[in-house]
Amino acid sequence: MVKHKKNEEYSITITDIGTNGEGIGHLDDGYTLFINGAVPGDEVLAHIIKPQKNYGIARVQKIISPSPDRITPSCPVSDKCGGCQIASLSYDRQLTLKEKKVHELLLRVGGFSEDLIDSIFQPIVGFYDSPQVPVLNAPSCYFSQDLESGSPVSKTPVNFRNKAQYPVGTDADGNIIMGFYTAHSHRIIPCDNCLIGSPFDAEILDVIKEYMSRNRIPAYDETTCRGLIRHIMIRTGYFTGEIMVCLVINGAKLPEKDDLISALLALNINAKITSICTSSNTSDTNVIMGNSFEVLFGQGYLTDMIGDLKFKISPLSFFQVNPVQTNKLYSLALAASKLTGTETVWDLYCGIGTISLFLARSAREVYGVEIVEAAIHNAIENAALNDIPNAHFYVGKAEEVLPAHCKEHQKPDVIVVDPPRKGCDSICLDTILELSPSKVIYVSCDPATLARDLKYLCADSQYSLRSVTPVDMFPNSSHVETVVLITRKEK
Ligand code: SAH
Repeated sequence: MVKHKKNEEYSITITDIGTNGEGIGHLDDGYTLFINGAVPGDEVLAHIIKPQKNYGIARVQKIISPSPDRITPSCPVSDKCGGCQIASLSYDRQLTLKEKKVHELLLRVGGFSEDLIDSIFQPIVGFYDSPQVPVLNAPSCYFSQDLESGSPVSKTPVNFRNKAQYPVGTDADGNIIMGFYTAHSHRIIPCDNCLIGSPFDAEILDVIKEYMSRNRIPAYDETTCRGLIRHIMIRTGYFTGEIMVCLVINGAKLPEKDDLISALLALNINAKITSICTSSNTSDTNVIMGNSFEVLFGQGYLTDMIGDLKFKISPLSFFQVNPVQTNKLYSLALAASKLTGTETVWDLYCGIGTISLFLARSAREVYGVEIVEAAIHNAIENAALNDIPNAHFYVGKAEEVLPAHCKEHQKPDVIVVDPPRKGCDSICLDTILELSPSKVIYVSCDPATLARDLKYLCADSQYSLRSVTPVDMFPNSSHVETVVLITRKEK
């Protein structure tokens, strides 16, 4: 293959998107270009900026003819901020691309046959779609207009994310800025009215900015590791109207905290700030939150609902970010499990016990496993809060707790896994194969590691793939969630 050179320009048609939402196209000689800012269906003049042996990185020099699926995003910083990589594609096209991505990875990485995948693949569940399974009753959402499924208000979902983490910094003129990192960098694009986030964040950030100026509290500087305020995390309970504000600080204490608390509580917004806390993070790291947190005001946790279940969420615990889609996701997992009330279920990577509690009411016993201690504290409290006596929880790594403790209990009939992007540890997969439950439900936020792990689980013909349902938890981003059912073959 010809290696191309820097600054060469070609007209090229975009056929696909990459993992970070970049447009992908192929030159006549087969050379692949990854082009930021181009979307499938575009014909662009691409300017090569970083040629590699088998592919190159390019930028859009000019759009020759725009994709019919191009839209103008309503967000003024969508082309700079790294969050919404595919905001300039229509929502329908976003959904078909995500479906295609899952489908392709199951063939290419999973090694499954196209006939099999075609026969079990379910349509992606978009923000405005209901899945083909009963969805647990949702209480009415706090931000009503655009959140209910079937909403005609907007074709691309807005205001659906319940959590944002804003990096804090200083601009060239010394002003405090808060916003988001640009793609692949740690440069902050000021943005305080993120379209996909909660509508109240802007006012909260303003109050914190004023408090910092008033008290001369410096923002953290990543290059010198000095300064105090690193990030602001804001979480909103969409079904309760509760808000938690957490300041991540490069130090142990926040000065003049009473000034901040009274300024935040004086905000006149249509929701209530029920918790203000700090998390100390003094290391030179990309990890946002510290390992512990201190409550400055209120209860130290946020409460929200999924379906008719209530959850307490610590600032350190994982909680799904899209409340409308979470209910559908868990309902799909519940439907796939076909529980009758007699089963023993293990829920690995259980977070605050959300899936565990969803399943517990239809199972005999549920055991949840999670590595973050604060999340397991929440899980235990959440079981009590919802009057669910048959859910039990372990703190630890799934790959350690499952082999060590599972034998004491009755064998699992169903195992649910919901790992982070890197997928399951191989010891965890080996233990699942050894325990041989009749069903495994894999909830995944990365289709590449999902396909890899499914290949491993199905390799020796003990299990077969039964259904695959992508769910759009992350509109405007290139990420996609998937619920998969595999079942043990009867001998
Ligand atoms: N099922 C939960 C959480 C899913 S996110 C929900 O839907 O809310 C994945 C979770 O796995 C996170 O809470 C993370 O802390 C946890 N985790 C990461 N690595 C782990 C491991 N090796 N063992 C157990 N839990 C792990």
